[in-house]
Amino acid sequence: MSEIKILPFKITLKKEGIPKFDKRSSPGIVNQRSCPYYGARWILAPIKNTIHIVHAPIGCAFYGQNVRKKTYNIVSTDMQIEDVVYGGEKKLYRTIIESYEELGGDAIFVYATCVVALIGDNVETVCKKAEKILGIPVIPIFCPGFCGYHQAKGHEIAMKALSTIIKEGRFKKEYKEKRTVNIIGEYNVCGESKVIENILKKLGIEVIATFTGDCSIEDIKDSKNAKLNLVHCGRTGKYLADYMEERYGIPQIKISFIGLTNVKNSIIKIAKFFDIEDIAKKVIDEELSRIKEDISFYTKKLKGKRVGIFMGASKIGMLSSAFKDLEMEVISVGSQFGCLEDYLEAYKNVGEDTILVDDASKIDLELIFRHKKPDLFIGGTKEKYMALKFGIPFLSFPQDFYPFAGFSGFLNFAREVYKAIYHPIWNLVEFKT
Ligand code: SF4
Repeated sequence: MSEIKILPFKITLKKEGIPKFDKRSSPGIVNQRSCPYYGARWILAPIKNTIHIVHAPIGCAFYGQNVRKKTYNIVSTDMQIEDVVYGGEKKLYRTIIESYEELGGDAIFVYATCVVALIGDNVETVCKKAEKILGIPVIPIFCPGFCGYHQAKGHEIAMKALSTIIKEGRFKKEYKEKRTVNIIGEYNVCGESKVIENILKKLGIEVIATFTGDCSIEDIKDSKNAKLNLVHCGRTGKYLADYMEERYGIPQIKISFIGLTNVKNSIIKIAKFFDIEDIAKKVIDEELSRIKEDISFYTKKLKGKRVGIFMGASKIGMLSSAFKDLEMEVISVGSQFGCLEDYLEAYKNVGEDTILVDDASKIDLELIFRHKKPDLFIGGTKEKYMALKFGIPFLSFPQDFYPFAGFSGFLNFAREVYKAIYHPIWNLVEFKT
């Protein structure tokens, strides 16, 4: 891998090298990124029984109110012009107290957004005052949209905030003799955290906290008892995994439960750590025998089909591997805020002529659709209607209905890919050039 070049362009072919990544977008370009506030809220909102107060004019809360069709306890201070002129601290304090009286909860996260950062409200002092009155953590999250140039900055800020909760936890005797892990960077799309948990359970491994798709404040406090951290999404989870390794000596390994090869390799890695390779082999064989026949049907149907990928960050590596498992050809891979690790992961799974693109604009994606004419495009909501208007079958990811993680999830994935490509509607639609 050492000879791979990082080029000064945002679009490259694999044979030329990796595009520049993690750079500021060009002014005026309509891209698919989100702001750091959105990134922070995205990480923190799934934590059970928590309230999220967005100190901002109403637009920020509207923007971040629901992700993946899940609704959370999102409250806005709905700042008005007089709050901007005279300051919004009193309003924020009232909102925190009223929200708690109305909704209850184990913790409150308060997001300081662009307007608040500009006028200089002292959010930290307000949070401390409310914390004393309410007796639960009230945690300020400083994430104005301009503090970074994409959502990854918000992911890091959110993970840092979680480390303040972990500090308050205790080491407990009950975990001493058990095989325990945390999963970091796993967001429980369509119940995926449970699928992963069930596989680990078959290996005799207990999950203490899944950051943040399936965890409570108590689980977060207990997470320092884990023997190993499993990093599912490196881009969002790396900060926390590094913090726990440095502070509590908990080792970390990178795993992925998306894609058949990835699941098998991850189980083997975890088993090696706990010295339970025999059990792992048995679990893998059992699970594979259950799906083998169906997978071979889908592979026959999908072999050689061409797919384009555009999404957040670490999923580009996982998905390019999953498509390789189905013997499909990946014609383009793009990411909104991927890091070097994500691109390297994708790099090893794709062909020499695959397009690699970072921070693609609408025009970049249209050019890929027009010139590469993929049989399928996989991405988020922002790309969905663009692809469909070109007459290109589309699969949303993160997906809408079924878990794609694990062995049974891979079968769901193969079936959804098949359904998207072979849907009869495509016999009636012409490709737009
Ligand atoms: S960029 Fe600023 S104003 Fe816009 S949603 Fe993000 S925090 Fe709110």
